[in-house]
Amino acid sequence: MTKAEKRIENRFHTTLNKLLKAIRKFVGTAQEPEEILERLKLYSSSKAFQDWCESLALNMTTQVKKSVDATWHESLLRVGRRNELYSAIVRELETPNGGVFFGLVRQNAEMIKTFPLDVSEEVTRLVANAELQGRRASDIAAELSERFPDIAKSRLELIARTEVSKTQSELTQARAASLGLDWYIWRASKDARVRSSHDFMDGVLVNWNDPPNPEALDPKSGQKPYGKYHAGNTFNCRCDEEVIVDLDYVDFPARVYRNNTIIQMTRAAFEEIM
Ligand SMILES: [Zn+2]
Repeated sequence: MTKAEKRIENRFHTTLNKLLKAIRKFVGTAQEPEEILERLKLYSSSKAFQDWCESLALNMTTQVKKSVDATWHESLLRVGRRNELYSAIVRELETPNGGVFFGLVRQNAEMIKTFPLDVSEEVTRLVANAELQGRRASDIAAELSERFPDIAKSRLELIARTEVSKTQSELTQARAASLGLDWYIWRASKDARVRSSHDFMDGVLVNWNDPPNPEALDPKSGQKPYGKYHAGNTFNCRCDEEVIVDLDYVDFPARVYRNNTIIQMTRAAFEEIM
């Protein structure tokens, strides 16, 4: 995740927090769990909320696209292929890649819209558990109002972290496809929070048509594999794809993901499979 994307994520997060405040105000003085759930449902189906989600999604997706465009501009300029970017952007305004952009706007809007309902699911679960334990309604209500902000907050954080990164990744992939660039270098975020399997993928060359299964590949992962995906494309992932526009900028021998395994390759060997 670039600095620009980190900023976008922070802004997105701030805006989602405002939403949280609005929801809490709306749920407000509701005491009974049923009343809380009823108000959440009412809120999520209001036109104002639906419109707000759509404009937030458009805004966030546009900002990510700008940042992706800037990254491409820089890397194509570096190898003297800048003119190709302009024709790619023009091409993308038509389908399928213009479709990718608007598809992402819709996808992000849907994701934000589910937020109040996700929260009500959590609330329902909490209430059901408390009832199973035979607790009094007044106790349950007290616990609910205490835990409601935390429930909502962790959900919001997951949305902000995951959606910006996924949007960035999908736009990058669409652009790479329109420029005929099939390979990228998996770049892990170099902070303490990076998971072992993504640290393991750092520097590996990956083909867009063949996503790896990092948890299955990393001998030290300790995590159950959850499928194949590209960098930046799973929950809480902050990894980046660095699209390969010129082999001169790749350090060989390089680790290459191919046929469900990672092998060391020289430039000559890699050129053969490219
Ligand atoms: Zn990651």
